[in-house]
Amino acid sequence: MNLLKRGLERYSRTEEGALYGIKGCPMHEEPLHLIPESLRPKFKEKYGIHIEGNLCPCCQLMVEEKYKGKIEEVRMERIIISEKKRMGIGTFSPSDPKSQDIAELTGSVDLTTIMDGVRLRIRSPGLSL
Ligand SMILES: [Zn+2]
Repeated sequence: MNLLKRGLERYSRTEEGALYGIKGCPMHEEPLHLIPESLRPKFKEKYGIHIEGNLCPCCQLMVEEKYKGKIEEVRMERIIISEKKRMGIGTFSPSDPKSQDIAELTGSVDLTTIMDGVRLRIRSPGLSL
């Protein structure tokens, strides 16, 4: 479980409302997808977060070949969405970082917002990620 804790800590040390995806994934995939099926029941028990969805074939290949199956070493990247778009998401309510519930952060990342980010980038080639 240490591996998962470290992942979560890293995940929680984000700026308010920041979105992250798996680096190198064409879809900027939800990083929690890295957690294997076998560990998900424990994860849910401990953190109350139900993880849905599986790694896309691209990430599966990357984890196996580039990271040799070590999911804790898989790199994340910041997904930048426009100010306007961020306000539109508005699922994150700021609170004391010490008592902040991780679910507030993970809850703000879903495929819809990620795909919106991708579409946004396609429409605005000048925006670098
Ligand atoms: Zn992927």
